[in-house]
Amino acid sequence: MSTEQSFFQAVLSHVDHAARHLTLEPGLLEQIRVCNAVYRMRFPVEFDDGRIHVMEAYRAEHSYHRVPVKGGIRYAPDVNQDEVMALAALMTYKCALVGVPFGGGKGGVRIDPRAHSVRELERVTRRYAAELMRKNFLGPSVDVPAPDYGTGEREMAWIADTYRALREGELNADGCVTGKPLTMMGIAGRREATGLGVFFGIRESVNDAELMKELGLPTGIAGKRFVVQGLGNVGYYAAEALCGAGATLVGVAEIEGAIANPKGIDFDALIEYRKQKGTVLGFPGSEALAAPAAALELDCDILVPAALQDAITEANADRIRARIVGEGANGPVTPVADARLRDRGVLILPDIYLNAGGVTVSYFEWLKNLQHVSFERMTKRWSEQMNEHFCDTLERMTREKLTLDERRVLVHGPSERELVHSALENTMIYAFGALRQFAKARELPDLRTAAFAIAIQKVARCYEMSGIFP
Ligand code: GLU
Repeated sequence: MSTEQSFFQAVLSHVDHAARHLTLEPGLLEQIRVCNAVYRMRFPVEFDDGRIHVMEAYRAEHSYHRVPVKGGIRYAPDVNQDEVMALAALMTYKCALVGVPFGGGKGGVRIDPRAHSVRELERVTRRYAAELMRKNFLGPSVDVPAPDYGTGEREMAWIADTYRALREGELNADGCVTGKPLTMMGIAGRREATGLGVFFGIRESVNDAELMKELGLPTGIAGKRFVVQGLGNVGYYAAEALCGAGATLVGVAEIEGAIANPKGIDFDALIEYRKQKGTVLGFPGSEALAAPAAALELDCDILVPAALQDAITEANADRIRARIVGEGANGPVTPVADARLRDRGVLILPDIYLNAGGVTVSYFEWLKNLQHVSFERMTKRWSEQMNEHFCDTLERMTREKLTLDERRVLVHGPSERELVHSALENTMIYAFGALRQFAKARELPDLRTAAFAIAIQKVARCYEMSGIFP
């Protein structure tokens, strides 16, 4: 019989495990553990065939220690209440850990987006947004959704447009949702943010000499062999960045199947191949695996599960051969599997740290929306002028001319994308340092425990300061 728990219980067990290393008033801990509100909706939508379908959807708001609450909206056929509660809780801890001043939320619609026309998806999304507004579960100061599994910029644009239509004249309406297209007050760099954050987090870990020594691996990304599960928004950009830094992609799992090539898979060629053929199977030089999940068990240094929760459970944990598991997805390793992997000395980079890049850049987008101006617009020309002065002075003082290339590099003022990427990188580096330091100072057994402990402590402080306990 399986000893696995529900997803929400699994998150609670991580919380409880970490809380044992902290001194917290039990009532306060209980307030931090529970999900503050769940809104379950049923609403009718007319599909293209003229028939009316009753949709089932959710929005969970896990913690109001900071508002607005923040988290994605998932479209999947098996979305359920326990799942959105768990994902909302993970958002609370994720935001706290990386210093994004939001509570956690998450929504979901029980629908397979691939089985519906664009018009049907638009009707479902707009109606879902309107239902959220009915109970004040959507708005720049209350609850700000974003993309998640099965949704993207298109859905966020529909949500923003619906909100604006129903809240005529609201000044900060653009900040009601993030992950919007650039043309609708989105921010450059949001699309790749989660995957890029995963890359930065992995890079920090493999550059840590002590951690690599424990694993018996050399430091550095270059030459590391990795497997990615899922080529969606997270897996795609994480794999692209890892390959760009010299890692070797040796296996890929997608919904249609999985492939392996111990000599390395050309990432760009694979993406082109999949675009044309609609599948990764048959990619030249690769071997097809019996089932998508078999890719998780390939021999590699780094495994990046970047699809859904419960990818690694007690059923396959003992067959995982990777030395590092980088959780691109939310909750891909169950607590039972987590314990088994740790027993074997596998380093797990926990989701609430590793995939926090998405919400970090969502925070920047929300700030841009409240400011009504892009970061680049206020600074670019001024920095370029100052840099021109600097170059002129340098040339005068050294009596040497800079080459055109040198001058171009020195003068260049940052674009919005460059600012976002560097702020994201800084967030991931800083949070990794804090994690390692905390884990060492408290002699914590692993990074997940350290991540949850830091996050719980921050949330607790917020509650204590908020006057709930006068
Ligand atoms: N859905 C993403 C996550 O799980 C992003 C959430 C957001 O940007 O608000 O972290």
